[in-house]
Amino acid sequence: MDRFVLADEPGRGGTGEPGQVVDWESAPRFVADAMLGRLARWLRILGYDTLYDPRSHDDELVRTARAEGRILLTRDTGLVSRRGVRSLLVSHDHVDAQLRQVSAELGLQAPNPFSRCPVCNERLEAVPRSWAWGYVPPYTFCTQQEFRLCPGCNRFYWRGTHWERMCSTIGKEARTGE
Ligand SMILES: [Zn+2]
Repeated sequence: MDRFVLADEPGRGGTGEPGQVVDWESAPRFVADAMLGRLARWLRILGYDTLYDPRSHDDELVRTARAEGRILLTRDTGLVSRRGVRSLLVSHDHVDAQLRQVSAELGLQAPNPFSRCPVCNERLEAVPRSWAWGYVPPYTFCTQQEFRLCPGCNRFYWRGTHWERMCSTIGKEARTGE
């Protein structure tokens, strides 16, 4: 995740519009248990609304999933047997395999990748490239054309090699610039 580096207090202003549109009503939303932090981050990067708080207790996870219609992702066989909640037992340790499993079992299409902050789950805003100057490493600024900004934590994001690898993991073509 080192590719997703941030800078503090970037210049704000303008009207950054998210570059892509998705039917959020039909996109699955998730809540992940404490064991699945890396998976949660990657689901966010792929555009899925994913709650993750390692301090959440089992009952809180179940309650949130029920109340908000979220799919509970868990490594805990006890949790998947809870009634009244849609859940998926993640059966792998490595995040690549986890993502492949979730993607296959739920038929994820990642219709709006690169749209959500992996740290805080906020929607990212497309921003002019010039905004990133001074806030990202010079090499990154020179080699990347598109940057997005999280309004929640003020981190800049771009599509690095991790991005390409994970896209290929779920069988989706990595997109580089638009
Ligand atoms: Zn953020």
